[in-house]
Amino acid sequence: MANENKRDYYEVLGVEKNAAADQLKKAYRKLAAKYHPDVNHEADAEERFKEINEAYEVLSDPDKRARYDQYGFAGVDPNFSAGGNPFEGFGGGFGGFSGFGDLGDIFGDFFGGGRSSRSGGTRAARGENVVVQIEVSFEEAAFGCKKEVNVSRIETCDQCHGSGCAEGTQPETCPQCKGSGQVRTTQSFMGMTMQSTAVCPTCGGRGKLIKNPCTRCKGKGRIKRSHRLIVEVPAGIDDGQAFRVAGQGSAGANNGPSGDLMVNVRIRPHDIFTRDGSNVYCEMPISFAQAACGAEIEVPTLDGKVRYNVPEGTQTGTTFRLKGKGIPYVGYKNRGDQYVTVVIETPTKLTQQQKELLRQFDQATEKAQPKKKSFFEKLKRNFG
Ligand SMILES: [Zn+2]
Ligand SMILES: [Zn+2]
Repeated sequence: MANENKRDYYEVLGVEKNAAADQLKKAYRKLAAKYHPDVNHEADAEERFKEINEAYEVLSDPDKRARYDQYGFAGVDPNFSAGGNPFEGFGGGFGGFSGFGDLGDIFGDFFGGGRSSRSGGTRAARGENVVVQIEVSFEEAAFGCKKEVNVSRIETCDQCHGSGCAEGTQPETCPQCKGSGQVRTTQSFMGMTMQSTAVCPTCGGRGKLIKNPCTRCKGKGRIKRSHRLIVEVPAGIDDGQAFRVAGQGSAGANNGPSGDLMVNVRIRPHDIFTRDGSNVYCEMPISFAQAACGAEIEVPTLDGKVRYNVPEGTQTGTTFRLKGKGIPYVGYKNRGDQYVTVVIETPTKLTQQQKELLRQFDQATEKAQPKKKSFFEKLKRNFG
């Protein structure tokens, strides 16, 4: 797939995710001038130039940028499909990972969350992202749905409200560091006195001591809990793609913001339909007589059956298009198309009488099969 190694747009422009419009413009102008194929004759200049333009086109449009932030490439490129690996689209480099347990970290790094929360101290830290996987039907993915998910995340302790102290008590200021979380050490070295600071060993850098820890969270202020949550699956999401529910990940430490919930979507195969991006495909068996004479057939679509006139003389393998009968583009009302390929079914288990009728028919219609006729003429010319 062409998008496999697509780089994150922010990375392409070398800007932060929260870059303001004028920063984007500046970065874009600089890079566009550098990689313009008229001035830069390196082998990949043209490719880079295109990439830069594409990134700027999306990020400079507030609407597209919001979609990109929320849905990744799927939100801005209707043809983007993450295929089997939902992370291929996100800036590449994740292609080699395996195992679901790593996803939390990968998301954490990519979306800028989840770091530094383990470092302790009193600094507010953003909570970690939590990843869940859901399975939806073909139709649910096409039109969106609500799904209940079980989220195992770290929440603020509801008994102590995050303080970590038993009811009615307060944390005490650490006597060793007087609340700063750091201690000075003095060392003498070759007659010189060196001062340095270190994390306070008594409080571990928190600056506070909990004498009577909360019984529920054992003084941590946060506890691991399972939580049932209803999530809204966006219409048009594809197999292997993920969407984000902001703020539903783990609670942050020291009143830091919560991480996000990343919902990874698997789509159950459908009996009749397959999809590629927002287009739906199906095969429709028709009889030889219907194909030869033309017929009105009923074609299944996501909206129910629709009537379609197969023109007379239709060949097997002919594909026709039902405009707008596909799957909505994520975040839009517009829909892809449905492609129906007619397959002429050769009758089997015919009776002697039926076979005889067909043979007669075949002889009588020799002139109506120009392809067969011209093939035998070519054969005669070439092989005598
Ligand atoms: Zn201390
Ligand atoms: Zn507690």
